[in-house]
Amino acid sequence: MVKPFMPQLVYFEPKALEYPLGQQLFKQFTDMGKEIRYTTSHNQVRNLPGENDFQRYRIAKSTLVVGIRKTLKFDTSKPSAEYAIPFATGCMGHCHYCYLQTTMGSKPYIRTYVNVDEILEAAQNYMDERSPEITRFEASCTSDIVGVDHLTHTLKRAIEYFGQSDLGRLRFVTKFSHVDHLLNAKHNGRTRFRFSMNADYVIKYFEPGTSRLADRIEAAAKVAHAGYPLGFIIAPIYLFEGWKEGYKELFERLSHDLPDDAKGDITFELIQHRFTKPAKKVIQKNYPMTKLELDEEKRRYKWGKYGIGKYIYPKEEESEMKETLFEYIHTYFPEGKIEYFT
Ligand code: SF4
Repeated sequence: MVKPFMPQLVYFEPKALEYPLGQQLFKQFTDMGKEIRYTTSHNQVRNLPGENDFQRYRIAKSTLVVGIRKTLKFDTSKPSAEYAIPFATGCMGHCHYCYLQTTMGSKPYIRTYVNVDEILEAAQNYMDERSPEITRFEASCTSDIVGVDHLTHTLKRAIEYFGQSDLGRLRFVTKFSHVDHLLNAKHNGRTRFRFSMNADYVIKYFEPGTSRLADRIEAAAKVAHAGYPLGFIIAPIYLFEGWKEGYKELFERLSHDLPDDAKGDITFELIQHRFTKPAKKVIQKNYPMTKLELDEEKRRYKWGKYGIGKYIYPKEEESEMKETLFEYIHTYFPEGKIEYFT
């Protein structure tokens, strides 16, 4: 079992200590004897230890920076929500294909923001603006928020905040099974708790540092028992030898282990594996031994925004993948809702 994240090194923005959560985290890490350093801004943590990029990348992924979120203008987050709500940035996982490798570039450390009240206030303003429409917030656009939440309980606060809100909905996705502290949160059915799931093979070879399949399924069952609406993101769907069997087993296990009453309101989001040229470079630098197939010749090029296209599966393979997974979902979760395949 992958243990809950514990940083090796912690940085604080001095201003973070003016907030109750900043003070609490400072005490927590001091009591544990963690090395604490200071930084003027979470955007510029300099002098991370490590002799080369490879080492620095790994050390950064076990470094936590406690700071203040200054930009309270939220990004949009279509199609799954109206806005991205920023509680944290970065992730301790080592998924070879993680999009954060390219979007975070030189800042792979994990940042948590302690001005939670201000972030929630900004969310309230967005909700008021759209009233009487419902406004959905996605909490995992720039991090795997559950992975760090056992330390901060920020997500738990947000779940309870939205639990009280008539016009706001919260959603997030995780590859971590450390959910126990979230089970008794007063969510009122207004948070959709999603797990990122994959065939055992994919998790085993490409998602080091995250919870294993059996642990994620067990956590999903606990979350379902706690009454949360549940969702699964199957991503990235990756064609390996025996993929049909591998994905079938995934749905069989999910269906077997989840309580029946959770299966009525369950969503699926399906995303095939893709890569861009810049991402391929970063992946090969950060994970030089990866078995991940990144051969442009075996893929189809799809034009993208800003002239950076992505390589997805050729039409025929894509159709086969889509048909196969749709069939599994219809078989094992006849009431499940497939939100999209991309
Ligand atoms: Fe990236 Fe998600 Fe893996 Fe974290 S768990 S490294 S955010 S893909």
